[in-house]
Amino acid sequence: MKNGLGRRVSFMDLHLREDAGDIAAAMRRVVDRGWFILGPECEAFEAEFAAACHVSHAVGVGNGTDALALALKGLGIGAGDEVVTSPLSAAFSALAIQLAGARPVFADIDPDRLTIAPDAVEAAIGLQTAALLPVHLYGQPADNMRLKAIADRHGLAFIEDCCQAHLATCEGVPVGTLGHAGAFSFYPTKNLGALGDGGAVTTNDAVLAARIRRLRNGGQSDKYKHVEPGVNSRLDELQASILRARLPHLRAWTDQRRALAGRYRSALVNQRDSALDMSKRTVPSLAVPPELDRGHVYHLFPVRARARDELQRHLAQRGIETLIHYPIPIPRQLAMAAERPAVCPVADEVCDRILSLPLHPGLTEGDVEFVAEAVAAFAHQWSA
Ligand SMILES: *Cc1c(COP(=O)(O)O)cnc(C)c1O
Repeated sequence: MKNGLGRRVSFMDLHLREDAGDIAAAMRRVVDRGWFILGPECEAFEAEFAAACHVSHAVGVGNGTDALALALKGLGIGAGDEVVTSPLSAAFSALAIQLAGARPVFADIDPDRLTIAPDAVEAAIGLQTAALLPVHLYGQPADNMRLKAIADRHGLAFIEDCCQAHLATCEGVPVGTLGHAGAFSFYPTKNLGALGDGGAVTTNDAVLAARIRRLRNGGQSDKYKHVEPGVNSRLDELQASILRARLPHLRAWTDQRRALAGRYRSALVNQRDSALDMSKRTVPSLAVPPELDRGHVYHLFPVRARARDELQRHLAQRGIETLIHYPIPIPRQLAMAAERPAVCPVADEVCDRILSLPLHPGLTEGDVEFVAEAVAAFAHQWSA
């Protein structure tokens, strides 16, 4: 995109594109029907999303945070329980654990994959541990097979935070299908986004799906019959209809994300193999995290830079918008002050270095080349 000031590359663009006509028709349909909560659109979307995720059940809820919290509650996890999760994520991952009444315990991340490290998870497991909650961060699946084996060995529930990983697979297995449940967000910026808030829980367990359906609607078994303390967290009909209009595009959008990520990788090839090496205490001027699974869906494209803030300024001066995901490790948030102290040096380091480059299906290859050139020029300058 060009304007009078030269080229600009925005971090994201939430304007409708090829889905605009279908979304307008879907919204019209809902308005004309006059049925706005828990109706045919939510039911149809649940079936369509479950099929897309290769899972037997999907339950539409109000947002991704509630999807996580209701998955935990539905499995009976709450007060007195600990849930092992990642220090590097949207803080909502850990807030959802608190919302369910349980305590988050943080296991440090793997320096390459940026998701919880199996060894750190083993070390974090104690007598109160009830579940593992890995986050498939930036669209790259966590080390699911090893983590699931740990969960099984310790008799723990396995709940995947798939909020950044729609259609991702881990060693060929779709995320959100391996354990007890997967939690998805349809926040507008996610790979599949609504025009407002939305979320879903995926599971192959019919009993769990039925319980979450009840919990999301005030714990009602029948109208006005509240058999347990539920919440109000429903995917409304307008959002469900919008998601139905968009879901058929998700495969193509994911392919576009992967193609653009491939462009970044080949343009930044000299930086590709120089992963952050904590043991040697050498931080390269720029590092591109490796793609450890072809099932990566590139919700974001982060790089790590020794002089991250300078890189962000350098790019901003060239009209390139970037964001930091995430500037503060979750255990260092004030909201976590009452939790067990966490020692997560890798997450601390990553939060100081990480920077997300623009990546969304509306970008052109030319945009990506332009960004990559600006990044490479900076890296060259700082390694000199
Ligand atoms: C977006 C997100 C959430 C929260 O989803 P909401 O729909 O915003 O509640 C949780 N975890 C991760 C990793 C996310 O990216």
